[in-house]
Amino acid sequence: MIAFPPALQRLIKELSKLPTVGEKTATRLAYHLSANDRDLARSLGAALQQVAHDVRLCERCFFLSEGALCPLCQNPSREPSVMWVVEKPVDLVAIERGGEFKGQYHILHGLWAPLRGQGPETMRLKELMERLRKEPVKEVILATSATVEGDATALYIGRMLSEIGVKITRPAQGIPKGGELEYADDVTLSRAFAARSTIQF
Ligand SMILES: [Zn+2]
Repeated sequence: MIAFPPALQRLIKELSKLPTVGEKTATRLAYHLSANDRDLARSLGAALQQVAHDVRLCERCFFLSEGALCPLCQNPSREPSVMWVVEKPVDLVAIERGGEFKGQYHILHGLWAPLRGQGPETMRLKELMERLRKEPVKEVILATSATVEGDATALYIGRMLSEIGVKITRPAQGIPKGGELEYADDVTLSRAFAARSTIQF
C-alpha cells in the first residue's frame, strides 16, 4: 500500500493537534504546503520558529509578549485602578481596538468548566489575587463570556475577590448571545463597559 512520505505524515499529525483542525483539514493543508506552495511552507516554518522562540506570556497580565512585560504593562500612563479580567488574549485586543479603556488587564487563560474536567487551577487566579493585593486596583470588571461556563467562572472569581474588598462589576448584556467578547463590535463593547453593573457576593 502506498502512503504519504513520512515527512508529510508527520506534518499531518502535528497540524491535526491544532484546535478545530481535524485529520481531513490537516491532510488538505499539508498537501497544499508540500505540493502547491513551498514558499509558504518555508515562510510558515520561519514564522512558527520565531513565535516559539520570541513570544511568551507577560509576567504581569499574561497577555502575549516578546519581553518579560508587554507594552501595556510597561506603559506608566495606564490608569492603575481599573482592571478588566478576560479569558483570552483576543479579548484584550478587542477591548483595546475600541480605544476607550485606559486601564489594566488580567488574562485568565481558561475557564472553570467542571463538566469538561477543567478546574479553577487552569486559570491564572493565584496570580490575579497576588496582583490585587499589591496593585492599587479599586474595580475589577469580570468580562468572562456570557455562557454557562463564563457566568460560573465570574461567580467563582467574584466570591474569591470579595475577600479583598475591590468593587466587582460585569459588563452589561449586549455582548452577542453566546457571549464571546472577541466578536463584539466596538460600539457594543463600549456600551457594555459604560453600563456595567456592580455585583455583590
Ligand atoms: Zn502585561
